[in-house]
Amino acid sequence: MTDGTINTQETLVEVRDLVKHFPIRQGIIFSKQVGAVQAVDGVTFDIFKGETLGLVGESGCGKTTTGRLILRLLEATSGEIYFDGKNIPALPKDDLRELRKDMQIIFQDPYGSLNPRMTVGDIVGEPLHIHKIARGAEKEKRVRELLEVVGLSAFHARRFPHEFSGGQRQRIGIARALAVDPRLIVCDEPVSALDVSIQAQVINLLEDLQDEFGLTYLFIAHDLSVVKHISDRVAVMYLGKIVELTDKDELYRNPKHPYTQALLSAIPEADPTLKKERILLKGDVPSPINPPTGCRFHTRCPKVMDICKVEEPKFIDSGDGHFVACHLIPGCSSIDEDEE
Ligand code: SF4
Repeated sequence: MTDGTINTQETLVEVRDLVKHFPIRQGIIFSKQVGAVQAVDGVTFDIFKGETLGLVGESGCGKTTTGRLILRLLEATSGEIYFDGKNIPALPKDDLRELRKDMQIIFQDPYGSLNPRMTVGDIVGEPLHIHKIARGAEKEKRVRELLEVVGLSAFHARRFPHEFSGGQRQRIGIARALAVDPRLIVCDEPVSALDVSIQAQVINLLEDLQDEFGLTYLFIAHDLSVVKHISDRVAVMYLGKIVELTDKDELYRNPKHPYTQALLSAIPEADPTLKKERILLKGDVPSPINPPTGCRFHTRCPKVMDICKVEEPKFIDSGDGHFVACHLIPGCSSIDEDEE
């Protein structure tokens, strides 16, 4: 295997060599492209049915763009995304509308994503109306059921978003996503804007709903401590690339990529008697307009070697589905092939 896929479980989403470059244009009348923001640059991975795949990385690494490309809220520059065998970027608009029922999103900002002029009942009922699932009394009954499923009450349907706390608003967003009975939910930093105590409640709710409705999640977060509890597997992104992807326990026990090692070293230890050495990374994340040659992490990596500056490491299965892209790992460099 030479990509982020293993075949032991049923796959719901297959992402193959996905690229999204946002063009940078100059000039008003005869504008021409002078560069591109390489937000996502050749990522390959699977999401298995019923699992939670955590997607983690610093701000600007391309994780949110990846989630939006899967839902086709953005058009890919190139690459393939299969949802249950259907290639999403190539789907005609009508087929895409039908598929949208199966794929929903929960946003980071629960207030910004809810129309302040609509009642909660109208917000949660809107997808039922758009997809012609229920109307009138049937729709109202379904809205009441959905509010109760997410831990709110039926009478909340008459209220407006500003009357709720942050955690409650996120529950409204979850109820809206559940309304169309989806199979995949992209959770785009769903707890980042919430207090720590509320974060745990929302994560527990998402887990309960996953068990009850057989949901599959792509859970996007900027820090590894948030995804630890909810994820089955975790993918780590850096500057438009996935650098490591494996089972959650394996990642936290045996991180192989220096970037993952640095991220894990920054998580505070619950037991104060356990000392761990913090790995401090040099400098800021480079610009995705002009990313470093070779390994994109080489400008900040504490283990950088000469080869890292000129050759991009291959993303390979280093054993038992532990995927990594780093020249320290046998098989990631072309020199390894020459030696065979
Ligand atoms: Fe560091 Fe080199 Fe590995 Fe990149 S390839 S993470 S620079 S050791």
